[in-house]
Amino acid sequence: MCWCANVLQILLPPTFIHIPYTVLLYLCSMSKRVRVRFAPSPTGGLHLGGVRTVLYNYLFARQHGGDFVLRIEDTDQSRYVPGAEEYIFKCLEWAGLTPDESPLKPGNFGPYRQSERKPLYRQYAEQLVQQGHAYYAFDTPAELDKMRADFATEQNPSPQYDRQVRGHMRNSLTLSASEVQSLLDAGTPHVVRIKMPENETLSFTDMIRGEVSFETATVDDKVLLKADGMPTYHLAVVVDDYLMQITHAFRGEEWLPSAPVHVLLWKYLFGLDAMPQWAHLPLILGPNGKLSKRDGSKYGFPVFAMNWTDPKTNELTEGFRERGFLPEAFINLLALLGWNDGTEQELFTIEELISKFSMERVHSGGARFDFEKAKWFNHEWIKRLPADRLASEAASVLKTNGIDTGNSHILPQVAELVKDRCTLLTDFAEQAGFFFKAPVNPDISPIQPKWNETKQLFFAEIIRQFELTTLWQSADLEALFKEVAAVNELKPGELMLPFRIMLVGGKFGPHVFTIAELLGRQETIDRMQKTLSLLPG
Ligand code: GLU
Repeated sequence: MCWCANVLQILLPPTFIHIPYTVLLYLCSMSKRVRVRFAPSPTGGLHLGGVRTVLYNYLFARQHGGDFVLRIEDTDQSRYVPGAEEYIFKCLEWAGLTPDESPLKPGNFGPYRQSERKPLYRQYAEQLVQQGHAYYAFDTPAELDKMRADFATEQNPSPQYDRQVRGHMRNSLTLSASEVQSLLDAGTPHVVRIKMPENETLSFTDMIRGEVSFETATVDDKVLLKADGMPTYHLAVVVDDYLMQITHAFRGEEWLPSAPVHVLLWKYLFGLDAMPQWAHLPLILGPNGKLSKRDGSKYGFPVFAMNWTDPKTNELTEGFRERGFLPEAFINLLALLGWNDGTEQELFTIEELISKFSMERVHSGGARFDFEKAKWFNHEWIKRLPADRLASEAASVLKTNGIDTGNSHILPQVAELVKDRCTLLTDFAEQAGFFFKAPVNPDISPIQPKWNETKQLFFAEIIRQFELTTLWQSADLEALFKEVAAVNELKPGELMLPFRIMLVGGKFGPHVFTIAELLGRQETIDRMQKTLSLLPG
């Protein structure tokens, strides 16, 4: 990138000379096809923060006409959880954030699972050893324990393998070349560690945080290649970002402390010019600090994209999908956890997000998750859903609740009628269910105390009128109801609640005559008779 900017600066005619170098740098970096990646480790459910990382990657790729790659980082076999990978694919599919390249849809840069790329990494570790930037370490677990015990002090209770320690251990820095060779020839288990420089300041420009610097003295000699020949995350992420031609790497803030190791690996292996531009996304905060799975169960809100059952413990963690969130709302609320477009706008379609998103407008401070606000987004999106989607979402909620809407012709009208009352899709079960399934136990308790013979007679009469009438529109039914009430010298207000309970089973729902219209004559009458039979005659 830099050479490209330099050359441009020399070649451009003098009138262009005033173009700032940083702008040239930017233009050059943009001339490469944008390739971004989401690189999850398949260790469990997909947290809100993980999906937000996917979303920002996806938006950036779409905005720049680039590629969004999904790479599975499964080099730590001890943390591998069966089913976690499939679960990630499903979550992304539900959220509509399907990658352009992935283990399921390989492109030109496969394999897309690091475990399948194992033979690729050793050569880079060896190269680092040859260059003097890494070394073989033969220390056994017992020797490492002893080191921790020997070097522990009050200020440093858990010493790490670093510049102060490495000279006392069994590695290719302390052993002679022939000793090292014979250990290697004998197949002695060993790891490769990076040799962190003693006094270097490393810096890079983060798209969100600007210039970020680290002192190498504070970083330990991380393992790059493990005894089983698998790379660690540090080596694999750098090698794969290079081989997969990743131009921008967006990941959670928790990876910031690893950045100096990665900067060094880029510098040693591929040159800093080839390094992707990084953005470390802000933490998502819960009621007490970083939003955790525990917050979810403690406060009763989902933190995963979809339900996840831990195969070891069988513990179920609730997902946004099952809680009744629309993917549109989920995307919208995630986009705003850390970003805004500088206006008051809060509702964004994915197309708007693609055109308006910018990494430079992501804040570096933590973004607070507010479940009430999340529900607000969902409610707004339910209200905006096109009629056919609304009907199918409502039908699927009802089906989950054992209510089959079949090909009911009233389903679209019902969904439209009750959507304002539904904050979560699951609310359709209560708000729409009674249209398709008569209440099993109508709650007569609110009407029982004031029930009397006059009311009983009124309802007997209104049933007769309902049987006779040829008009079955809400307004006609209301007029008829009021007329019969007036003849019987009853206030319609006192009759509305009993009528509602007869049709709905409880004290809720939309305009009661609209309910009767949609239920139709026979069903309305059946429900009235059923409730009347429960009341004193
Ligand atoms: N495998 C890392 C994770 O699980 C990826 C970090 C990165 O994107 O560099 O979060």
